[in-house]
Amino acid sequence: MVRMSVVVPCLDESEVIDAFHTALVATLEPTGVAFEVCYVDDGSGDRTMDRLRYLAAADGRVRYTSFSRNFGKESALLAGMRMARGDVVVLMDADLQHPPELLPRMLELHRHGYDQVIAQRDRTGEGAARTALSRVYYRLVRRFMDVEIVDGAGDFRLLSRRAVDSLLSLPESNRFSKGLFSWIGFDTVSFAYENVARAAGRSKWGGRRLLNYGIDGLLSFNSRPLRLAIHTGLWLFLSALVYALWIIANAVLDGVDTPGYATLITAIVGLSGVQLATLGVIGEYVGRIYHETKRRPHYVVRETDRTAGVHRDPGD
Ligand code: UDP
Ligand code: MG
Repeated sequence: MVRMSVVVPCLDESEVIDAFHTALVATLEPTGVAFEVCYVDDGSGDRTMDRLRYLAAADGRVRYTSFSRNFGKESALLAGMRMARGDVVVLMDADLQHPPELLPRMLELHRHGYDQVIAQRDRTGEGAARTALSRVYYRLVRRFMDVEIVDGAGDFRLLSRRAVDSLLSLPESNRFSKGLFSWIGFDTVSFAYENVARAAGRSKWGGRRLLNYGIDGLLSFNSRPLRLAIHTGLWLFLSALVYALWIIANAVLDGVDTPGYATLITAIVGLSGVQLATLGVIGEYVGRIYHETKRRPHYVVRETDRTAGVHRDPGD
């Protein structure tokens, strides 16, 4: 009987994975809960897989799935949740930025009846620019999205079995899990902890990746950007109408004077800008529909703990 599954997505984490596993086991063993750890190797290029095979051979509670290439953290989380057999599932990063010491407290809150327990990090030790940017982003997202997402409330969370099952029942291939977590609902509680730096290795989230993630977040939850495009169009149309009336009135009263070349250029350039942006927004949605209709799987598995042969410690 597995009570608790810990799902850990790993991309190039060979430097920290052993330390992570040791810390995890050291906090979970004293609590007496029966647990399993589901590692998902998201197409690492380093020796992460060697470490996972070794951990699985040394510790019967370790299971793993390895992807054929990098499919992204969202896919890795999905694979981990599909693997998990526990009544309670915890999602956490491998880099020790999600301190295992918080797990007993999360379990305790779950016992009080919460289906989702979120450990919410603050932004201690993060660059001022990134903090400011995230703040603006979350304000924007909150305006635009129908679901609530909270700054710092990332993927470090505990989910009850029914919460996991409802997440797994969502079929979309474009998975923005921050939105999905909030979409499924259930009683949710969060508590804050101080942000810690990565134990080793480096973050996979560069500026570009963050920007794309941000756009995904904005677009994957509703069609409000389309609504915004319609509003902008209507306002522009109204102002054009008022302007036209003014020109007609002018011509009737004073006769035609200046040819209005500047006005024309401004109107053309301004309107084409709006049209292009609107087309872009529509294109994004069409692209998403195209993507969804292909119904491709979220990832391709290369190897799991059950398909693997016998392995020695690569350190031997
Ligand atoms: N990760 C992953 N696939 C990716 C990127 C990241 O599985 O394409 C994992 C990574 O190994 C780590 C977690 O997701 O366990 C968080 O990544 P990272 O620490 O790089 O992000 P940050 O903490 O800087 O937001
Ligand atoms: Mg990290």
